[in-house]
Amino acid sequence: MNAPIVGVLALQGDFREHLAVVTRLGAVGREIRLPEDLDGIDALIIPGGESTTIGKLATRFELIEPLRELINGGLPTYGTCAGLIFASSTVTEGNQPLLGVLDVVVQRNAFGRQNESFETDLDIDGFDAPFHAVFIRAPWVEKVGGDVEVLASVQGHPVMVRQDNILGTSFHPELTEDDRIHQMLIEMISRR
Ligand code: GLN
Repeated sequence: MNAPIVGVLALQGDFREHLAVVTRLGAVGREIRLPEDLDGIDALIIPGGESTTIGKLATRFELIEPLRELINGGLPTYGTCAGLIFASSTVTEGNQPLLGVLDVVVQRNAFGRQNESFETDLDIDGFDAPFHAVFIRAPWVEKVGGDVEVLASVQGHPVMVRQDNILGTSFHPELTEDDRIHQMLIEMISRR
């Protein structure tokens, strides 16, 4: 098999860090800014950043519909932090463009001012060692739909979820050296 092509939505946020991870895992990373950049990708990452900005730019560049179509068609997709928010169906407050492909309600900046940024060793379902997770103004998942599996939680709130081909984390594995979650995404390509 040729090296898989992993598209990383590159409108705003820390897409460069994700590109570095997928490259070190032997995949080809591609920056996605326009609908035509989506042609031929095998997986997609939506990075962290500011979900309202990502949503606005995705609307402006007419990416919302093509992204929905690909993800609903089974494209392995991973959203981190703002990317999880943008993929979700609902946010608890306010109104912002969302893809609505992941059946969860998300609360933005959920850990409050005191815990704006923190790191913790997280137990993740199916992983045999904890994952050092970095949270930055992170959301948590407030409610999950029937097809959504919760893979990890903090203080009883889901921070890692999976629904078929879609994976979401409130935290930022691309800021650490632990590539297990990106590896999961790449393994989802071969199981498609
Ligand atoms: N607080 C940001 C938002 O609501 C997400 C932060 C992040 O991606 N690290 O979009």
